[in-house]
Amino acid sequence: MEHLKELPLLQVTAEMLMVSSEKVAHVQLNNPIEHALLILVKSGYSAVPVLDMQYKFQGIVGKNTILNEILGLERFELEKLSSVTVEDVMTSDIPCLRKSDPFLTCLKALMDHTFVCVVNANGYFDGIVTRRAVLKQLNKYIHVNKALFNENVDEK
Ligand code: AMP
Repeated sequence: MEHLKELPLLQVTAEMLMVSSEKVAHVQLNNPIEHALLILVKSGYSAVPVLDMQYKFQGIVGKNTILNEILGLERFELEKLSSVTVEDVMTSDIPCLRKSDPFLTCLKALMDHTFVCVVNANGYFDGIVTRRAVLKQLNKYIHVNKALFNENVDEK
């Protein structure tokens, strides 16, 4: 597989695949989970990044986490929507990428996540790379380089 080193796919970086921060829906640490749930349901996203007041990346929060938080024994405890904050329920133990990370690092990170956040050396949020963006790039690469593969790859 030595020849792959020269191919453009391996020169693709997280920055080239990234949705930049201005286009990414996010919530803040001190938002009540009601606000986060509204953003998630309205946008249709399963999870969004959590930032602090300085726009530094802190974690992610998803619909399932919020629904589990308000799930009581026999009913949804809706009063928790305003008393619990995003900071109380968010997940912060997750991998992040740097803009300069190469394609294979992105691919590996996205095996277990539908999107991964891109953060700079000072902790500021740069954007996200989605699994969709990586798979699109991989699909393009396979079709452009059909000759490298033994199997037919005519299905788009
Ligand atoms: P997609 O590949 O577009 O289906 O996105 C996968 C996941 O990435 C979504 O469910 C969201 O959690 C997240 N995501 C994608 N685009 C955005 C965005 N513009 N703002 C916030 N989250 C996003």
